[in-house]
Amino acid sequence: HSKYFRGSPLTWEETKKWAEHVKTNGIQQFINLYKRLQHRQGDCLKWGDEVEYIIVRFDHSSKNTSVSLRANEVLPILRQPENDHPESVKSLWRPEYASYMVEGTPGKPYGALPAHLNIVEANMTARRKEAQQQLPLDETVLSIANFPRLGCPGFTYPVFNPKPESSVSRSLFFPDEAIFQGHPRFTTLTRNIRSRRGSKIDIQVPIFKDVNTPSPFIEEGVDEQKPDHIYMDAMGFGMGCCCLQVTFQACNISEARTLYDNLAPLCPIMLALTAATPFFRGHIADVDCRWNVISGSVDCRQPSERERIRKSRYDSIDSYLSEDGAEFNDIPIVYEEEHYKALLEGGIDPLLAQHVAHLFIRDPVSLFSEKIHQDNLKDSDHFENIQSTNWQTMRFKPPPPESSIGWRVEFRPCEVQLTDFENAAVVCFIVLLTRVVLSYKLCFLMPMSKVDENMARAQKKNAVLDEKFWFRNDIRNKDKKEYSLMTVSEIINGKDDFPGLISLIQTYLNSMDVDADSQCTLQKYLCLISKRARGELDTAAKWLRDFATSHPGYKKDSVITEEINYDLMCRISSLPVDPCPNLLGTLYGSKTTEDVPDILTK
Ligand code: ADP
Ligand code: MG
Ligand code: MG
Ligand code: MG
Ligand code: MG
Repeated sequence: HSKYFRGSPLTWEETKKWAEHVKTNGIQQFINLYKRLQHRQGDCLKWGDEVEYIIVRFDHSSKNTSVSLRANEVLPILRQPENDHPESVKSLWRPEYASYMVEGTPGKPYGALPAHLNIVEANMTARRKEAQQQLPLDETVLSIANFPRLGCPGFTYPVFNPKPESSVSRSLFFPDEAIFQGHPRFTTLTRNIRSRRGSKIDIQVPIFKDVNTPSPFIEEGVDEQKPDHIYMDAMGFGMGCCCLQVTFQACNISEARTLYDNLAPLCPIMLALTAATPFFRGHIADVDCRWNVISGSVDCRQPSERERIRKSRYDSIDSYLSEDGAEFNDIPIVYEEEHYKALLEGGIDPLLAQHVAHLFIRDPVSLFSEKIHQDNLKDSDHFENIQSTNWQTMRFKPPPPESSIGWRVEFRPCEVQLTDFENAAVVCFIVLLTRVVLSYKLCFLMPMSKVDENMARAQKKNAVLDEKFWFRNDIRNKDKKEYSLMTVSEIINGKDDFPGLISLIQTYLNSMDVDADSQCTLQKYLCLISKRARGELDTAAKWLRDFATSHPGYKKDSVITEEINYDLMCRISSLPVDPCPNLLGTLYGSKTTEDVPDILTK
């Protein structure tokens, strides 16, 4: 994977000189691979999930918790089986942005059989156990979307102090040592994004105002903070959060474009349903999701660009790719005329050309001197350079060079859930949705501007119950272009003559030959999704929020103290075995549970 190439990274000043070179050649590489692979047919459904984890250290004597900067030590061990027997491993491990994070995926992608949906959870559980086994007894790998006290004094183990004068981020809170140091990509991105931007990262999240929260809420010694906001100033505050992603292989490029387009309107809905990030830097926020934070955390735009380029390179997509989607592209799509023209002359159709040209408005922010000169007929690293630093809700992935992999689409909005059961439920729900969309030729398309409106709403506190989202009145007739505001429950569970996504999935499952075990597992997953949408079960965000605000040590001042955080991390560690009916209901766990993770001994 070119993303993990190890070489000599260039500074922004050096990278800048090559920016046009990377872009012109990256576009040429896309044209070449498109010419080679546009007619590729007959790939079968394959798919896989990615789960990110945070390593948490418990100090039981002082009741403190911190993030353990151990990824670089455990990753080589976790990856040894893959190095030895790449064909037969249960899981693949990858570095992530922070040195307290690891990312795990299944050893091989899953296939189209319903029975594959029944092994997702067991594989996630086995993965968690694999990672857990590499950790000392006082550390636990948790699938939490954010460490609540990330950026608070002494939040890392070992403790490192931030160096605002000299660190790559210049952060007041986030030390360089918390950035993964085992690969140059992450510090390089941090430094170059800040250099390109011309200033530190500036993230302001509205604080949840409780009765004893100072009003206005102002932190001393933090000049950049806007009153009543939680201020964050480093890439790590966003990229150091964990998410859940799913990648699908389509049978050809046209099916990939259809999937990409139809999954896009589901991004905000799934974001609201999986909301899991109500805490930032030791405070309770007035939002439930990490999306705007991570978006701000890599916003490399200069002030003069912000008018014309309306989003960060981490944000929701701006355009549909399929013929059917074209008429719903109603927001301005910025690109360089020469890039667009080159793509058209290279034989790319206008919709795909505008998508690629739009990705290429971003400059490269990580470039290795060894990778400057490439063979555009064979390599695609310049294309991948820009593609892999456009972090959007959906990603359209062309087949890698020299591989048996087809055209793929990645679904990227979801926040990671606290347990394997929930993560498996979310993943299986999305996989089933793709099957239903393709089998019944459903249409979720709506004006992109409405999808963006939905993205903003999805992040609000308790959006799953309190907000309404634009959705199609009729998803079975693509000519009926009418939309109305619906609750997540109406979208998921149906209302009046709108069937709801779950009933379509049920119809689909009934039409398939699904073995009893898989059917039983899937019903538990659908039940979880249905009840979350209905408010009968809490989202992770709601559950986390309630845990903090009902903690005996909570002073109604919006602060997540060490004590609250410690108790919360302990409670999350025990979730797989100690019942938690508000969050999980009573019927959780797939039928093929292989292993229950080792729970930390308190
Ligand atoms: P990235 O971080 O760039 O998205 P990863 O390698 O971390 O890439 O994750 C890729 C995901 O795609 C994994 O879940 C993997 O199981 C899945 N995957 C691998 N090969 C295929 C394929 N041929 N079709 C669909 N998904 C695949
Ligand atoms: Mg990955
Ligand atoms: Mg990742
Ligand atoms: Mg990734
Ligand atoms: Mg991914």
